[in-house]
Amino acid sequence: MSSLSASSLVNLRQLRLDDARALLEHSGQILPDDQADGTAYLQALIDKLSELSLKDPLTGLSNRRYFQSVLLREIEIVARSGETALLLMLDIDHFKSVNDQHGHPAGDTVLQAVAKTLAGCVRPMDTVTRYGGEEFAIILPSCQGQYGQQVAERIREAVSTLRIPLQSGVTLRVTISVGGAYAPRWVRSTSDLWIDRADIELYRAKSEGRNRVCIESQPVLAVSAEEKNLLFGPLSLGDPAWIESIANDGSTGSSGSVMNRLN
Ligand code: GH3
Ligand code: MG
Ligand code: MG
Repeated sequence: MSSLSASSLVNLRQLRLDDARALLEHSGQILPDDQADGTAYLQALIDKLSELSLKDPLTGLSNRRYFQSVLLREIEIVARSGETALLLMLDIDHFKSVNDQHGHPAGDTVLQAVAKTLAGCVRPMDTVTRYGGEEFAIILPSCQGQYGQQVAERIREAVSTLRIPLQSGVTLRVTISVGGAYAPRWVRSTSDLWIDRADIELYRAKSEGRNRVCIESQPVLAVSAEEKNLLFGPLSLGDPAWIESIANDGSTGSSGSVMNRLN
């Protein structure tokens, strides 16, 4: 339906827009001009609501909902093109003690400062998200294996050198631990599996002392049993040993050669 025919069907006076307007007002958004023509007004309202639903209010970063949609899109790209994509999970070290010693508002200030630093460290094509609490995630498309560690180290260092002034006059410094995993190329994996792998590395970074980066070492064919099933499921029924052998066999070279053998 064209916007022209839609606008002729919609009577703004019959719509209940008070909640939507209140939500936008409450979040400090500038409301669209309701004197403008009906279609433009509704479009502006919808755009602002959509933006709001994809952002974390405290840091202004994208939220988990947006992150999930980008992650799924990236999985598609990696599966089709064999591009290398890296997922980083980042967690502020000993953040609870910031809240305990300086108060919750100070903790919020730290979250905002870290978020801004992370956003400033990456390319426009990368997605930085507040994943939850004091945890962030970054999706880096087209990130070659040899650069992943470098990029993550640069991010870790940028946070560790950050000085965060509080209203009390105190200046704080924090560190982050970073875990990373590549999407298995040519495989249509799941976002949960990819996140799990990056999380395992994050846990390793924490347990090895924090303020460090751990990235999964085998980006290409180190696929889990579940991922192997997603790739080879229907074909593997007759010959699971063969599937196991190619997934573990470095001599198969690039994952492209795996696809050739399947064809
Ligand atoms: P670790 O190094 O193991 O990550 O320790 P940690 O203290 O950072 O982790 P823990 O999970 O024990 O504590 C996280 C804290 O983050 C607890 C919670 O109150 C705080 N937190 C979560 N969300 C927010 C928020 O929006 N604002 C503030 N100020 N604190 C938050
Ligand atoms: Mg933490
Ligand atoms: Mg945490």
